[in-house]
Formats: sequence, C-alpha cells, structure tokens
Amino acid sequence: MPTFEDSDLVAETPLTQTKSRDINRAPSNNLAVGDSPTLAIPSDIQDGTVTSIEVPATRNSVADTTNYMHNLSISPSMKDRRGSRNSFGTSLPIPRGKRQSRLSSVHYPDGPGAAVRPGMPPIQPSRDIIAAQLQDLAGEKVQAAKDMAFVFDIDGVLVHGDRLIPEGQRVLEILNGDNELGIKIPHIFLTNGSGKPESARIDQLSQILKNPIHIDQFIQSHTPMRALAEYYKTVLVVGGEGYKCREVAEEYGFQDIVVPNDIIAWDPTIAPYRVFTDEERKTSRPRDFNKINIDAIMVFSDSRDYATDIQIIMDLLQSENGRFHTKAKDPVSQRIPIYFSQGDMLCPTEHPFPRMSQGAFRIGLEAMYKSLTGVELERVVYGKPELATYKYADEVISSWMETIHNDEKLPANIYMIGDNPASDIIGGNMYGWNTCLVRTGVFQGGDNDEENPASFGVFANVLDAVKTAMKKELGQDFNFEFNEKINPVHGKGSAIE
Ligand SMILES: [Mg+2]
Repeated sequence: MPTFEDSDLVAETPLTQTKSRDINRAPSNNLAVGDSPTLAIPSDIQDGTVTSIEVPATRNSVADTTNYMHNLSISPSMKDRRGSRNSFGTSLPIPRGKRQSRLSSVHYPDGPGAAVRPGMPPIQPSRDIIAAQLQDLAGEKVQAAKDMAFVFDIDGVLVHGDRLIPEGQRVLEILNGDNELGIKIPHIFLTNGSGKPESARIDQLSQILKNPIHIDQFIQSHTPMRALAEYYKTVLVVGGEGYKCREVAEEYGFQDIVVPNDIIAWDPTIAPYRVFTDEERKTSRPRDFNKINIDAIMVFSDSRDYATDIQIIMDLLQSENGRFHTKAKDPVSQRIPIYFSQGDMLCPTEHPFPRMSQGAFRIGLEAMYKSLTGVELERVVYGKPELATYKYADEVISSWMETIHNDEKLPANIYMIGDNPASDIIGGNMYGWNTCLVRTGVFQGGDNDEENPASFGVFANVLDAVKTAMKKELGQDFNFEFNEKINPVHGKGSAIE
C-alpha cells in the first residue's frame, strides 16, 4: 500500500525547492503562450534564509482572447476591416430617399431666422441680385463651384470640444457665400460623435462656429441608424448619458425603446454589481420583460457602465429570440442582431492618453460572447470608416445640393477634411474622395501619415485646406471675399455707388 508521500500524484507535480535568490525575481508581465516561467511562492525560513517553492506558470486558455475575438476586429489593416468586417452577407440599411428640406428650421446662432450673421457682410437687398448677375457672367466658375463639395470632420478640425478653431469659422463664412461669386459651396459635417439628438448638436455647433448649420447637413455616428426603425419594433438602446439615447431613438421613429435601466428596475438581480438609485428607479420604465421579445440591440454611444450593459447584452444575445430569462437552444438562429454606431477603439480627451471607446467595448463583448458560446458574434458597425456611412453621406450631399442650388446631384469633386488618418482619411481614400489631413487635431506626424496618407495633402489648418481645394477647382486667383460694391458688368469695384 503506497503512502501519500510516494503516490503518483506527488511524483507528477513538478514542485521544486529553490533558494531565496528567486524570491525577488521580478514577475514577468509579458508571458508568451508556450513559455514556461515559474512563479515563486514563499515557503518557510531555514537558517535565516527564505526558501521558496516554484510552481510552473500556466495560462488559462480562456485568458488568451485572440482566438475568441472576431478576427476582423483585430485585423491590423483598416482596409481589410473596412472591406469586410460588416460583410456577413447582409447589406446595411441607410435612410432612403430625399431628406425633407426644412429651410425654415435653419439654426442661426442668434436664434431662429435671425438676420444677424456675425463675421459676414451685412445683408443688403441688392446683394442677392449682384451675386446672381455675377454668377450669370461666370458660367464656368459657377459650374465648377457646384461640382465640388466639402465633408468636414468636426472635432480637431473646426472645434476642440466646445472651443472654436478660428479658421473653422472663416471657412464656413467663405462656403456660405463670402467669396467672389457670392455663391454657396455645398458642405456637410460627418462625425463619429454620438449620444445626443442631431438638433441639440447643431444648435451647439452653430453657436460655437457663429454660422448657421442645418440639420440636413449633419451626420453623426448613429444618424444612418434611423433606417433601422422600420425593421425592428422593440429595441434595446445602450450607451450615452442618462436617457439621451432613448430621446435620439424616439426622434428616429423607433416605436418601442427599452434601455438597460428599464430592465434593472424590472429585475435588479440581472446586474448584481449595479447600485441602482431611487432617482433611476423613478425615471425608468419597467415592464414584464418575461412577456416581451427584444427585436434588436442598438449600441448608440459609449457605455457608462460596462458591467451592467455587457451583462444585459450577453443575456439577450444568448436568449431565445430576445426574451429575458430564456436560453437559446441554437445560439445562432435564435440570436437577435446587434448594431454599433461606430468602431473607434480610442477617443482623445483631456486625459494625457486617449480613453477607450465603443470599439474597445465591442471587442470585449465579442471575446466574452465567443468564450461563452463557442461561436463568433456577428455584428454590424456604422460610422467612419464604414462604407454605409459614406454611402449615406452621398445621399446627404446630393439632397443638400437640391436645397441650396435646386439641383439634386452629387458633385464630382468631394473633399474630406479630417484630423484622424485612421477614420477620416482611410474612409475617404477608400471611397474615392480627395482627402485633406489637418494638423489641428489627432495627427501630429511628419509630411503625411505613413499608413493612410491623405490624397490631397496635409495642411496646417482647415482654412489652408479649403482655400487650396477651391483654388484648384475655381482658379488660382479666386477671391475669398464678396465685394458688395462690385459692378457685375465691368467686374470693377465701386462703379455702382
Ligand atoms: Mg476628429
């Protein structure tokens, strides 16, 4: 009868006794899979020296998330990701048809319809007439002006947070008519921002930029997701501050919107680590979610509580057709779809290093989903640099052309101006736009970005970029001011005074 000491169990356990020299060895934080380092565990003290036992270090295979992440999420090539990560054999809906033109709702910085245009020449009754006469005489230039358009990223290009970049204001003045033809040059705004209704964003932007910005010129990350409202009745909307994303979804026409707080108010045990305040309970809308199927999950903005949101999303993804307290028999065919408004991994903030954003949240979720179910999570991502967002931008530009020039067409020469090579520039390049990289934001590099070089060049600021593009399309001598006193016939100033 073998004793415990000489049993196979002990013999197979590769514990070795070593001297104390190992105890101070710095632990390695960079263990590659397959390495077999050892971890020192203090043992007893003999003759004044500490002895230790070394245990071979192993890694739980689940901790190596590489195998569990969606392979396209970690592709180093933005091009691969852009080309295929949404390619699950489905096409991505974007809002169709013309946008409603509501010029009466143009947001002026000093209130609706105010005739004050800071930085712009005062409106004179004759101005439009002079501009029209000038444009009649400059047919070719006018055609060229109507055949170009600008697409602006916002943060790092026109503003920093809520601070104006002064060249941004001047650019909008020029494009709104302060140029030698007195002509409006079409331009739209394309941002991966999220979490507030479009109307609130353009009010704020108009104030900062001191120029009117219309809601029909504005695309934020979740704007194209408006199209999903006609596909799904009951949706879980995740992310953002308080209930702002519920408001956004309501504006988009979603019929039945559920947010995580509604679920917690119904069943607090679903999120064991969540401290749910009385105020949150009062403002939530609990129902008997045992009787309701959620049709789709929409991540509109950054999660404010990863633990709760991931738990609730995972419960739904593993449920039978979106019904809480159920488990799907088949994780694929009974799984409800999930959409993300954008895929940025990081977001620059006032913190010295960029903070994690929706892309990081999604990758975590994908890894957890695959490790728990064994299957890959199929999901859809909107926002720059995804194709759907650029196709939607085309719709918005041609619709805006109709609003300002009564001519619904897509200009041939589109200029994207952005500060982030990994979203603004790669997306624009892939879509065949001219791309301009500015130095007022994320990009701090040399002559051009090495991975995703801007096709039209790198500029000190947005005004430089816009003037260079306009000179290319409209002539090197193009004048960036409207002369109220010009005589359209002579082309010389002051003759009509
Ligand atoms: Mg930016």
